[in-house]
Amino acid sequence: MKIICIGRNYAEHAKELNNPIPDEPVIFIKPDSAIIQKDNPFYYPDFSKDIHHEVEIIVKISRVGKNISKQFAHKYYQEIGIGIDFTARDIQTKCKTKGLPWELAKGFDGSAPIGRFINKNTFTDLKDINFHLDINNTTVQSGNTGMMLNSIDDIIAFASSYFTLKKGDLIFTGTPKGVGPVKIGDVLKAYIEDQQLLKVEVK
Ligand code: ZN
Repeated sequence: MKIICIGRNYAEHAKELNNPIPDEPVIFIKPDSAIIQKDNPFYYPDFSKDIHHEVEIIVKISRVGKNISKQFAHKYYQEIGIGIDFTARDIQTKCKTKGLPWELAKGFDGSAPIGRFINKNTFTDLKDINFHLDINNTTVQSGNTGMMLNSIDDIIAFASSYFTLKKGDLIFTGTPKGVGPVKIGDVLKAYIEDQQLLKVEVK
């Protein structure tokens, strides 16, 4: 399986990193070795001194599809979850300056903790889902899917014109503002509405 991620999908987050609002989705991919499941810990890697949290709504693809039109995109997912797109910001900044790809900054082992998934029918409106991230019980990021520049269906339509989507693939839909560093000992908890779906300790 693969993890498709979208960058700069919330205007306020693009602004906080001094990035322009993109005119088409910024896409990158993480390998499956990036995944952490079942509330297992994240081990701080020794190649970075500035790992940032980015809490994001995740969509799990439920059937194979290619060139999916926006109109039919909703037929390709049943479950929504929450995860963290851990980013080695120091490495990413270096890559950006040199115009190099982001994989080392985004795709390393453990860079994609994912929580439990819930059926999308639980929500009355997928464009009005509140989510937030707490670190050591203080809220550091909160967002609403209505603030996405590209909706879930937009992302599926765009990404599937380049990549065949397969059952089990995950889509990270971008982070709202409030990203920042984590340190060893931090306990991160991610929530959709009031439901805690993910916990990860930094070790
Ligand atoms: Zn992200």
